[in-house]
Amino acid sequence: MKSDKKLIDENGKRLDGRGPDQLRNIKIEAGVLHRADGSCYLEWGGNKVIAAVYGPREAIPKHTQNPLKAIVKARYNMAAFSVDDRKRPGPDRRSQEISKVTSEALEKIVLTDQFPRAAIDVNIEVLDAEAGTRCAGLTAAGVALADAGIPMRDIPVACAAGKIGAENNDGMFSGGFVVLDLGKEEDNFGNADLPIAIAPRTNDIILLQMDGHLTFDEFEHALDLAMKGCQEISKLQKEALLRRYKSDVEVEE
Ligand code: UDP
Repeated sequence: MKSDKKLIDENGKRLDGRGPDQLRNIKIEAGVLHRADGSCYLEWGGNKVIAAVYGPREAIPKHTQNPLKAIVKARYNMAAFSVDDRKRPGPDRRSQEISKVTSEALEKIVLTDQFPRAAIDVNIEVLDAEAGTRCAGLTAAGVALADAGIPMRDIPVACAAGKIGAENNDGMFSGGFVVLDLGKEEDNFGNADLPIAIAPRTNDIILLQMDGHLTFDEFEHALDLAMKGCQEISKLQKEALLRRYKSDVEVEE
């Protein structure tokens, strides 16, 4: 969507005061649910997300089983009260799409061949949404999977970069700034959004989507920013897991 709203000033300062390469505030807590095998609560700007992992356990119905490896079933759900205009409860095309790409991304990183015929269920519930919920959900899922002790190549992490503030001259986009981690207004009125997920140790890309238009150079810049964002968030994921582990050890002592 295009608007005359000024999303960034001449000095690169954004509406919420962030610079072009700054993330919104992120808080991560691992192990928040007692009945799940692994869980995570994550706040990312105005997003609030819970991820709960169950399994590995026998995949049901049986015809969904793969005799050679586990299936990873991510289910992304946005609560009706999570957005300004109440969302109709239940699955819709958008949540099905996000569930599918999240499942595929996680399947690349979980060592699925260790659990033939099993299912690993990853439930992602968005309680409060403010742009970037697929990245927040996948990042929380990564922590919840690690909390559940699921063997993985790495802890997956996601982040987006995008383009805002381009001028529209007769339908042509020109100028604009490539920035990290679009906020709500930037997502609504910006020109492009590039969410990615990676395996942070190797920088292997496990999810890449793009909404809007970027030139090749802008794409490279946005990808580089999103990768750096992922690395920053990866540290927060590990800190959250260490805090969780330490609190368990203290309780046992
Ligand atoms: N959104 C909304 N109602 C909906 C779906 C989305 O208000 O039914 C908002 C929500 O804040 C979301 C944003 O639009 O975070 C952007 O949605 P998008 O599909 O781009 O996914 P996201 O950026 O959350 O990964």
